[in-house]
Amino acid sequence: MNQKEFIEREARYGAHNYHPLPVVLEKGKGIYVWDTDGKKYFDFLSAYSAVNQGHCHPALLKALNEQAQRLTLTSRAFYNDVLGEWEEYITKYFGYDKVLPVNTGAEADETALKLCRKWAYKVKGIAQNEAKIIVCDGNFHGRTITIISLSNDPDSYGDYGPFTPGFLRIPYDDIPALEKELKDPNVAGFLLEPIQGEAGVYVPSDGYLRKAYELCKKHNVLFIADEVQTGIGRTGKLLACDYEDVRPDILVLGKALGGGVIPVSCVLADDEIMLTIKPGEHGSTFGGYLLAGKVSIAALEIIKNEKLAENAYKLGEIFRSRIRAIKNDMIAQVRGKGLLNAVVVEPKNGKTAWDICLALRDNGLLAKPTHQHIIRFAPPLVINESEINEAIDIIEKTLQQF
Ligand code: PLP
Repeated sequence: MNQKEFIEREARYGAHNYHPLPVVLEKGKGIYVWDTDGKKYFDFLSAYSAVNQGHCHPALLKALNEQAQRLTLTSRAFYNDVLGEWEEYITKYFGYDKVLPVNTGAEADETALKLCRKWAYKVKGIAQNEAKIIVCDGNFHGRTITIISLSNDPDSYGDYGPFTPGFLRIPYDDIPALEKELKDPNVAGFLLEPIQGEAGVYVPSDGYLRKAYELCKKHNVLFIADEVQTGIGRTGKLLACDYEDVRPDILVLGKALGGGVIPVSCVLADDEIMLTIKPGEHGSTFGGYLLAGKVSIAALEIIKNEKLAENAYKLGEIFRSRIRAIKNDMIAQVRGKGLLNAVVVEPKNGKTAWDICLALRDNGLLAKPTHQHIIRFAPPLVINESEINEAIDIIEKTLQQF
């Protein structure tokens, strides 16, 4: 089959809920992917930051294969010999009392919201059904009904109502707005992304996370960080919250926790919060299954052993300074942290971010626009300095074609 036929088959049999760039991939290794014609590309999306460790990392495949030969899933009806090992590993790794495993990022955010409400009623003493959680304009936490109830993006929430009540939305990076809402004694939590990824890599002002965290403490409100996209080394620290020495009360992780091999997500919190949920009150058939445990231990080991957060920090500086130096009037702004970066595109002669991504593809680099005018650049964190310079040369050459 040729690429056109692969694409037509997906369009014929699959729901049309995505609009992929026209390229059909069949192989990946490290920072590269190959299409069905054998053409090689730099992967500058990393499956929306799920492949921080690089494609098909040998340590991940080893963990997956070894465990797959023994036992894959028991459900939580019984104990197994891997779950506790993973729980001990990940709680020590991130410094929390407890972890609750699920599969997708949306499920982890749902878990965090449920946990926050439980804590509101069991610990904070808010009257039943009165708890409120503050969220931000431009948020992206996934696609479930409750989570799109938080969204102000019509593409996310349009025609899916009625929505879940109990949320207050404020502008992102706006401390006075947060301060105002925190005066409401029924507020139990503040959920935010330390950098808004899907919105287009919006980096808040320096000091925002710290100040927001301190205000939450002052009002006995849980600070809930969704680090599904920013976590696990992507922004140049293990967590983006580490830039401001903020330790979230509830930490939500996903994506690269499974190294791009299997879906693994989780919520971390201390006992006062986590133990408010009792047996039978929350769960997921595959949550914390044995393959997830072994693969995610391997995924986190790679981040530490290969110093990927440090690498992301260093190469991110090079990326932004070189892209900012490109003289091209289609580049309106370059922003990001570590290897989570975005270029805001000014359309020219009818050419948009989509056209640039098609040209990048032709020149051997894959990236995808978000919100029509923003291109996110997020390679696997295993990229090295000469490789990133080669990739930047491609981006520069491509932009000069416009
Ligand atoms: N939270 C954030 C910050 C995300 O970027 C995403 C996905 O892009 C999600 C949650 C949802 O994760 P999933 O697609 O695994 O449900």
